[in-house]
Formats: sequence, structure tokens, C-alpha cells
Amino acid sequence: MESKSRNISKEKTFCAAPWMHLHVINDGRAFPCCVTEINDNNVVGNVKDDSLLDILNSPKMNAMRKGMLESKNLPKSCERCTGREASGFSSMRQGMNDQWYSKVDDLVENTNSNGSIDEVRLLYWDIRFSNYCNLACRTCHPIFSTSWANDYVRLRSHDDNIELGLQNLDNETNFWKELDENLSKAEEIHFAGGEPVLMPEHWKIIEFLEKTKRFDVKLKYSTNATKLIVKGKNILDVWEKFTNVHLSLSIDGTGNHFELTRHKGNWEKTKQNLIDIGKSNIRYWVHPTVSILNILHITDLHKELYDLNLIPNKIRDCELEVDSTTGRIHGYDEQDYFIIRFHINPCIHPDIYSVHNIPEDIKAIATKKITEYAKECEAKYNIPTSGWDSLVDLMNSQKCDMKVFNKFVETTKKLDKIRNQDFCSIQPEFKKYFNLI
Ligand code: SF4
Repeated sequence: MESKSRNISKEKTFCAAPWMHLHVINDGRAFPCCVTEINDNNVVGNVKDDSLLDILNSPKMNAMRKGMLESKNLPKSCERCTGREASGFSSMRQGMNDQWYSKVDDLVENTNSNGSIDEVRLLYWDIRFSNYCNLACRTCHPIFSTSWANDYVRLRSHDDNIELGLQNLDNETNFWKELDENLSKAEEIHFAGGEPVLMPEHWKIIEFLEKTKRFDVKLKYSTNATKLIVKGKNILDVWEKFTNVHLSLSIDGTGNHFELTRHKGNWEKTKQNLIDIGKSNIRYWVHPTVSILNILHITDLHKELYDLNLIPNKIRDCELEVDSTTGRIHGYDEQDYFIIRFHINPCIHPDIYSVHNIPEDIKAIATKKITEYAKECEAKYNIPTSGWDSLVDLMNSQKCDMKVFNKFVETTKKLDKIRNQDFCSIQPEFKKYFNLI
């Protein structure tokens, strides 16, 4: 195939993920990546039944690779990447190609005519070993958090066969054997959950990497940053041993906004953890999920974190990196502020929390607040307005579906009652709608 000569990695219909990556969730189902929506149509196999090579060569994965090599439009399962690109946000697809294509170009070149590949080369792992989590965030679900189970039972109006409680891959002997065999090839491991820092499976992998001195493996975490010390071990000390650690900090609000959205979390303790992380040599970005729950207060979060010097518009020492191949020094580019510092994740799913389904008068308040704040940050700190602009554009790109919004009100009222909280007491702008239903 002529993929190298035509510079396929620059094509908008190409993504390196199907050649070197898999996303596995705690019930064993596998997906091409974590951006792919988790639904039955998008499942490409199950590690409880299939080998890694079987999953990589499943009919869906083969069709995906074949379509990419033939420059066909990306499949429906990739719509979150294409949607983000269409709205001016960077996508996981672009990141995958930039980082990984050069390490699998031979595999791409030697792809069989039906789209299958002959080698398992999982360079980048994203395996959610368990749903063990200490928080029950409003936008989350029992599939991803053990702490959601009790509230979910009280919240749901019908029996929907969702498994509640702890789900993990601990007993999957064949899967763990394959992981052991492939760990020597891994270059990057993404830990997410659940809360990865609390998961025994995470510590099992870390201990293996420490034992084999694989401190070169890049470790990526999606963490709620609420716990840094587990069983007497401070994870910051462990991270300092590895050459490349990156944290994606799931923080969407401060004070009582944080505690309402990230239920069971404590803001003051979490803030101290963020300060400790900020003082370390660990790289991170703040990754707020922006939804109907925090659209009116996302700028307050930015301000508080900026004032704490946690998301500065300048390079941190630990961000200087020499590219081992080119010798080039990577630094900090302020144009990337909304990628490497404050990585806004606009919530579209579940639809009741989507930034689209916010009543238009509240969208207008949010638009004004965010736009004014963006201008102020540009004038004072030279922070580009692009990330804020993209958020506002995305929010206003679709009219609010009031039926979905009413479902949000119903769910929020029920959850407030179950959790003894009051969404409208901290978001009075919504009160008139809550009084109607
Ligand atoms: S295009 Fe996006 S959604 Fe599709 S496999 Fe690549 S990273 Fe995943």
C-alpha cells in the first residue's frame, strides 16, 4: 500500500488508533478508543472471551482500517472526533496521528487487503480495570463508579438491567497473561476509572513497571485528585520516579459547586492536593467537563485556579522536553493554552447535562459572562480567547430541547432529595424553571 508516500496521517479520514490502541472497560467490552461512544453498536470484542489479536481483527476493526486506507469517511463511531474538529476543537484523532503514526507506519503499510493486521502492537493502553471510585459525580453512572449504586437504585424509574456495584477484570486470567506478555511493548498507559489512584489493579501495573525498571513508560491519569495517599503510599512520590507522567485533572468547579457536581468530594482537601501537584514536577492539565451544571460558573473555576498559579500562561520547568529523535526542545506555546492548561471538555452526553440543552435565556447569561471574562483574560494575561469562543459557539450551535431540559429538572430534583442537596440554591438562575415542574 502507498500509505507512507501519500502522507496518510495528514488525511482527515485517517486515525492511527486502530493499529496501536484499544480501550477496554471494566465489564471486558473493547472499543477503538475512549472517545468512541460506549454502546453495543461500537463494541469490537470482549477481553473475557476474545484474545487481543481477535479483537484487533474483529470485523468492525478491519472495516475501520480498510475504510481509512481507502480514504472513506470515518465511521459513525468516530463522530465525536469529527464533531469536535467541525466545532474548532482539537480531536483525539489528531493527537493519535501526531504521536503514534510514525511508530506504526510499517504496520499501516502492511495492513492486509481486508483491513486485518498480523501483529498486536498495543503501544498505548487504555484499560479501565475497575469502576471502583470514591465519588458519585452527577454526570457519571454506576458503570464507572461504585459510589453511584445506591443513588441509582433510588433514582431509576424502571428496571434497566444495569449491573450495580464493583465490576472488574481481576478474574480474567487469559487477559492478564496477554497483558503481561505485551507490557514490554507498551509506551504509554492511560489509567482511568473509576478513580485509578484507588484501584489495586493500577498498583499491580505500577509495581510491575517498578520491578522491571520501565520508568520510561509514559503514565497518563484521568483522576479526580481527591486522594493522593493510598495505603500509606503517596502517589506523588511514585510519579516522581517515572520520566513522563501526565495528569488530566477532573475538576469542574470550586467550593459548593465542586461538592454538588462531584458528590462525596471535599473542595478544600482537593484544592490542597491540586496545590501539591502544582508544586511537583508532574505535568497536568485541568480537564473540566462543562455542562448545564457549571456553565454559569466555569469562569469562576478558571479564576480561582489561575490565582493559585495552577494554570499559568507560561512554561513550567518540568515541561521542557528534548525530543529524543530530533533533538528539538518542546516548550510551551500559549496558543495551546486550552489544550495544555485548561482543557475544556464540553458535555454533550448524557443529553440532559448537555451544553446544548440549556434554556436560551440562561445561555445568553453564560455567553455574556464567558465572553467578558475571555476578553479580560486576554487583556490581563494574554490568554487567547479561542477556547472560550469555541465553548460559546458550541453551546449556541443547537437550540435547547425543552423536553430534554425538563428531564434534567426532574432528575436534578430527585437527586437533590436523595442527596440532601439543592441545585437551585447555588444556581438561582434556574429556579423559575424548577418551580414550573
Ligand atoms: S477518529 Fe477519534 S473516535 Fe475514531 S478511533 Fe480515532 S480517536 Fe477514536
